[in-house]
Amino acid sequence: GKMLYNDQIMERESVMDIEDRAYQFGDGVYEVIGVYDGTPLMMDEHMERLERSARELRLDLPAPVKDIKANLEKLVEANELEEGIIYMQISRGIASREHAFPEPGTQAVTVAYTREETRQSDLEDNGGTAVLAEDIRWLRCDIKTLNLLPNVMAKQKAVENDAVEAILHRGNTVTEASASNVFIVKDGELYTHPADNYILNGITRRKIIQLSGELGIKVNEQTYTVDDLLNADEVFISATKQDIVPILKVDDQTIGDGRAGKITHKILQAFRSLYQKETHH
Ligand code: PLP
Repeated sequence: GKMLYNDQIMERESVMDIEDRAYQFGDGVYEVIGVYDGTPLMMDEHMERLERSARELRLDLPAPVKDIKANLEKLVEANELEEGIIYMQISRGIASREHAFPEPGTQAVTVAYTREETRQSDLEDNGGTAVLAEDIRWLRCDIKTLNLLPNVMAKQKAVENDAVEAILHRGNTVTEASASNVFIVKDGELYTHPADNYILNGITRRKIIQLSGELGIKVNEQTYTVDDLLNADEVFISATKQDIVPILKVDDQTIGDGRAGKITHKILQAFRSLYQKETHH
């Protein structure tokens, strides 16, 4: 396939410099955008979050987001991508290795590629299991940075336990999961960690909150404990392209009746009709 390197669509090859700050410091931001039926979903929301992540790290974007967006759309076309994801990252650039920012004027490096990915409808409908892991990340989890080692370690724990995700908790408080947000259902209402510095405010999370409002399901953006999680009626996770996955078991604790829940299913259906509406032109 083809890749985007700065503003050029080119054959995918190794063009990374050893002194790219993405390599040496994880000094950069990224986005993963879902592509459904050839159309990137919620592109503007992703671009807005990218801008915010960059701003919080005082990283100057190399181009206006409308140009970045246009280049990503070109990339999807060049690769004739129908179902899958766009991965894009912007690093603070290439410079002689020093922790502090490079000279002003150092060009940020943009890289993007696409990957075909078919939807895991079976997992979305029938769910999977999760493990618990201590949230050992820094205190700016709201920024989508390339620094993902705590997430990598947690997800590996999940995989080694045949689980789809690792749900993270800071002490007693459930924050999110290694690569997704977490919702619980109790007595017909949703609970999810507020969008503060302890979680990444997922684009899927925001859409779920909006759709739930339209469905008349109350959403409480407030913290809840590991105990609340284990005793919830339903639990699900949300992330780009994975969309919504019911969680049937956390460690050894069965959630609810151990099957994908009704409210989870309602929200999943609403999410599916959303992208069907947005992508069928
Ligand atoms: N939380 C973390 C830590 C993530 O890495 C992700 C992204 O995959 C999410 C939440 C979900 O965000 P989004 O719905 O924007 O993909």
